[in-house]
Amino acid sequence: MLEVKNLKVYYKSEDGIIKAVDDVSFNVKDGETLGLVGESGCGKSTLGQAIMKILPLNAQLYGEIKLNGQNITTMNEKQMREIRGRDITMIFQDPMTSLNPIMKVKDLFVEIVKAHFPDISEQKAIEMGGSVLKDVGIDPSRMNQYTFQFSGGMRQRVMIALGLVLKPSFVISDEPTTSLDVIVQAQIIELMNKLRDEYQMSMLLITHDLGVVAQLADKIGVMYAGHLVEISSKENIYYNPKHPYTKALLESIPNTDINDKDLKYIPGSPPDLGKPPKGCRFAPRCEYAMDICHEQEPNSFLIEGSEVKCWLYENSQDLKHVNVGGTN
Ligand code: ATP
Ligand code: SF4
Ligand code: MG
Repeated sequence: MLEVKNLKVYYKSEDGIIKAVDDVSFNVKDGETLGLVGESGCGKSTLGQAIMKILPLNAQLYGEIKLNGQNITTMNEKQMREIRGRDITMIFQDPMTSLNPIMKVKDLFVEIVKAHFPDISEQKAIEMGGSVLKDVGIDPSRMNQYTFQFSGGMRQRVMIALGLVLKPSFVISDEPTTSLDVIVQAQIIELMNKLRDEYQMSMLLITHDLGVVAQLADKIGVMYAGHLVEISSKENIYYNPKHPYTKALLESIPNTDINDKDLKYIPGSPPDLGKPPKGCRFAPRCEYAMDICHEQEPNSFLIEGSEVKCWLYENSQDLKHVNVGGTN
């Protein structure tokens, strides 16, 4: 189980402090998939990198991240290297640049397995790799090929196999499908679904595509400008969205059931995270904004099973005074 509590990631930049993730709390239970959605630049990848502790040097991390009871936040790099790949792994979004093209697939597997279990023989590591390759739909005989010999979709499968060879209990997948064409995307989504059940993994699925999370996630977190503005079950998010941003996001996705004329777009653009607006960060774009929204950052409230960071729900249970992030 992953527990994230009051997590903040601030980048130091020439323009000042960029509050990329600002006071975010949530849990992902064993076997559960959390889909994390939101517009470009809202802090999704930063959040994933914080959990893996692979943030760039100009990032500062505050708050607490626990994986299976272990506090990741206080671990040093040596301890992190032990758990990365073995307990928790991240599958990156761009297999074209993240796989070394001049290495043979088998050597990539040997490298990963040996880094964690130096006593395992090369032969055994290749066998382990072969078995996962098969699971991701690649003939293990391709072990001897170089990664540049694979197509985009196949490289993504190799990336997934490399991430899963040590059978981690928690997988973070950062937009695994964006660089792929639609048919390959659908195949990869189906594959992730199958592997999640077979390997009994928990997943954090980072994407701006609400269609991808619809197929894979059990619950969905919606991020806006560094804040987690709503988190709830997939059903609640789709059929009973509470936060004005979640509603707007849903109304802005093309859907075959509705006419294009009903498709709305969200006016304006997300704020500069170096100078976020006082109060609610969505207020400048929100059709429901009230006076308080421009003055005071909203608390998170619990309403009909959803945690919502919005003043519209201020008469509901205020989560600031209870177990933040503990309800979902
Ligand atoms: P996308 O959907 O485009 O991948 P994202 O939601 O993953 O976006 P992040 O990459 O986490 O967003 O970026 C969050 C914010 O942090 C952005 O404003 C971005 O410009 C800023 N940021 C990211 N990396 C750095 C860095 N190394 N230094 C300074 N600012 C950064
Ligand atoms: Fe809109 Fe106010 Fe809710 Fe922000 S707090 S989303 S501005 S109603
Ligand atoms: Mg990203």
